[in-house]
Amino acid sequence: MTFKFETHERREAVFNKVLIANRGEIAVRIIRTCRELGISTVAVYSQLDRDALHVRLADEAYALPGETAADSYLNTEAIIRAITESKADALHPGYGFFSENTDFARAITDLGVTFIGPPPEAIEIMGDKISSRLAAEAAGVNGVPGRSEPVKDVSEIISFGEEFGWPIAIKAAYGGGGRGMKVVSNPDNAQESMDSAKREALGAFGRDEIYLEKYLDWPRHIEMQIFADAHGNVVWLGERDCSTQRRHQKLIEESPAPNFPNETRIKMGEAAVAVAKACGYVNAGTVEFLFQDGEFYFLEMNTRLQVEHPVTEQVVGMDLVELQLRVAQGEPLGFTQEDISSSGHAFECRINAEDPSGGKFTPSPGAITKWRAPGGYGVRLDAGYEAGDVISQFYDNLIAKLITWGPNREVARKKMLRALDEMVVEGVATTIPSHKAVLSNAEFIAGEHSTRWVEDRLDLSSIPPFKPDVTQIGDDGSTKVLRDVDAEVDGRRYRVKLWLPTQGVPSGTSSKSGGSTKRSKPSHSGGPISVSSGTITVPMQGTVVKVHVKEGDSVEIGQTVVTLEAMKMENAITTDTAGTVKEVRVASGDAVGPGDVLVVIG
Ligand code: ADP
Repeated sequence: MTFKFETHERREAVFNKVLIANRGEIAVRIIRTCRELGISTVAVYSQLDRDALHVRLADEAYALPGETAADSYLNTEAIIRAITESKADALHPGYGFFSENTDFARAITDLGVTFIGPPPEAIEIMGDKISSRLAAEAAGVNGVPGRSEPVKDVSEIISFGEEFGWPIAIKAAYGGGGRGMKVVSNPDNAQESMDSAKREALGAFGRDEIYLEKYLDWPRHIEMQIFADAHGNVVWLGERDCSTQRRHQKLIEESPAPNFPNETRIKMGEAAVAVAKACGYVNAGTVEFLFQDGEFYFLEMNTRLQVEHPVTEQVVGMDLVELQLRVAQGEPLGFTQEDISSSGHAFECRINAEDPSGGKFTPSPGAITKWRAPGGYGVRLDAGYEAGDVISQFYDNLIAKLITWGPNREVARKKMLRALDEMVVEGVATTIPSHKAVLSNAEFIAGEHSTRWVEDRLDLSSIPPFKPDVTQIGDDGSTKVLRDVDAEVDGRRYRVKLWLPTQGVPSGTSSKSGGSTKRSKPSHSGGPISVSSGTITVPMQGTVVKVHVKEGDSVEIGQTVVTLEAMKMENAITTDTAGTVKEVRVASGDAVGPGDVLVVIG
């Protein structure tokens, strides 16, 4: 009888101290690996994140001024000050924020601090979608049918649509996270979509160049994880299927991709390595493709760690953050393509503060009043928050990532459903109900979905709208909140609803300064609301980006009156009353909260 033992050596790391220029779950994720390797960690935090989980877990923490990302996590000067004061010898940018910013990478490299990521030249080539398309094509990898040059005039959009067929995609060259992309179904919408794509891209990324691609009608999003060291070794670590999306943003990812032929996987892996080599890539990277009718097309390369990297970690059995640290300190990968094997199947569900009822996925910032993490064999939770923490409208709405691993897709899927059932998040709406709907759907189970599937086919109408805390004012003037409480009657446990004083109970919404427990009115989530007599109010905390109407305008039911940005998303606030605009109470740039009146229609 034999029994095979396999253990792997974990060498010591040479960095002494790593500063993590990020927040939320990814900062926590990086801190964890550093701690295991004996590297001390430095957190930075905005004024809203003073008590955030990543700050609580780090060895040291330094304050950044302000609340918005621009004032804090995107503040080069303040972060450099934290590096100097902490004497960190390396910086991990996580994803988002400074992770793909070459000026920042160069600024810290000039200080003698290692940027844990690719060389600035590679980020530059892949940094905009036009130059990355050109680089991929030069490496022999085809992009989605389209044009690799910026659009100057709306007439080019119309002629492109006529040549390639509608719908087409207008894409911001510097876009990301599903923003800055507009689908145009006919020439009449070209101008408006072009303006909107440019506005969104300028607001979010500071650049408004756009280009055109054919909009594929039923593609899957399949991406390849690559890793390169500074000694010329480049490998691919398998694919992730990220087709479950809404608003072109990922909701669920899995590895391996279902119904994906192995020879296509190998071709895609080799294509990804070719793209990485063509730009002199080092460290972790992801080459994204759209896959339709047996063909794959280059979409973009993300020159950083991806949100969904854990599904790859679970199936290949490697800690990608550890690999990033080792490669950044000059170590060779230490393994070749032949040494990599994938085992079983992993899913990741993004638990976002969003209300999925009716398929709307409305942002839902606020305070987490109750939290229960799932556990058990094959379950991993990468969270950035715990009970009592506040999810601000100023940052990404990702609360946590729930990851399951099983020996095959079916076991991993059932495990995920079990873990989602176990997980409790109260105080804000979450995507948990939509994940359950996806994972129990026959088309998803059969792997017949596409990037369009959640929006076009999945029925989310049975998910009830999120009900925020219901409050009432007691006779003594104190505020009470309705809560589920466990009670025992004759030895049997019951769940009952009780009115409890709000004192000591975190509120369901946050004030702009964050963490406030004062609350005068119940918040509302679940899409635009129109109170009686044509009063259009704000469904969630956010910033007005555009007011579409002025006093005296006549409006129809369903017309957009205001565009509100919350949690990095533009939300159209529509009217369900027809009539004349009597009053406009906001202007672009205004910060607004739930229940604030935007427009009055008579
Ligand atoms: P971002 O950088 O904003 O994430 P990507 O180019 O990576 O933008 O695309 C994000 C998602 O948008 C894709 O996963 C896919 O669902 C959709 N998408 C992008 N380009 C196209 C296209 N040409 N046709 C169909 N869907 C597309």
